[in-house]
Amino acid sequence: MDFSKVSSSAEIEVDDVTIAFDTPKGQVVAVDRASFQVRSGEFVCLLGPSGCGKSTLLNAMAGFEKPYAGMVKMTGAEIQGPGPDRGMVFQQPFLFPWKNVRSNIMHGPRMLGKTAEEAGEIADELIGMIGLSRFALAYPHTLSGGMQQRVAIARAMANKPEVLLMDEPFGALDAQTRIVMQENLLDLWEKTHTTIVFVTHDIEEAIFLADRILVMSVGPGRIKETINVDLPRPRSDEILAKPEYLTIKKQCLDLIRAESLRAFEKSSER
Ligand code: ADP
Ligand code: MG
Repeated sequence: MDFSKVSSSAEIEVDDVTIAFDTPKGQVVAVDRASFQVRSGEFVCLLGPSGCGKSTLLNAMAGFEKPYAGMVKMTGAEIQGPGPDRGMVFQQPFLFPWKNVRSNIMHGPRMLGKTAEEAGEIADELIGMIGLSRFALAYPHTLSGGMQQRVAIARAMANKPEVLLMDEPFGALDAQTRIVMQENLLDLWEKTHTTIVFVTHDIEEAIFLADRILVMSVGPGRIKETINVDLPRPRSDEILAKPEYLTIKKQCLDLIRAESLRAFEKSSER
């Protein structure tokens, strides 16, 4: 299977989406009238402090959460529920502990009706891309957290989704591992041309990865600002010293600091 030929035509459209939850204390508006589009092949980061509605918005794109108002569309059609055109990666890898790396990755394609041989080919190619060829037959519990998460990403990619939705996938990893994971993800993205929507509260992570950062505000969650990241690719740690990088970082820091303060003040309201 040649991943370079799988060019995604997906375009996500979040159209005036509001998502509210009924709680014992009344209704909580988690996302308030969010609107944005993600172009095919684009890498977009949703950035904001904890509780601003990032996961809720991503879940609506996955089809796990239904908007209270507005809609999410994929290539023009309203999303009705989860589907194999959208892969999801969470903070925890959630691998099948009784399956080895190769079988974990083969699972999705097998469920979609591929033969064992076809699924095996897809798995082997992805295992190469995530640099785990030596561990193809290893079981999850024998792998480090970072390796497990690489398997989780490969497993999501195995269905060749048009869009990969990632919810703080590196949030549980140490700083050194995280950098390696970010580089590996960019590499995978460049090879597969998958559209990626990546949720993070980490400013540096968002700038390193994204073409475009959507900064969210708190209580209720809104898209506060869009920041274009016009830094050259492929990216390495050399970009960290570029003046453009520092300008974007300052801009994000100021926005996030204001939002974190607001979240803090909101949480102490009684
Ligand atoms: P983030 O991912 O940015 O940390 P979330 O999307 O998880 O934020 O949550 C946004 C807001 O919605 C928070 O105030 C959270 O408490 C609330 N929320 C999220 N999911 C639910 C739910 N299932 N029921 C009630 N409130 C929820
Ligand atoms: Mg979250």
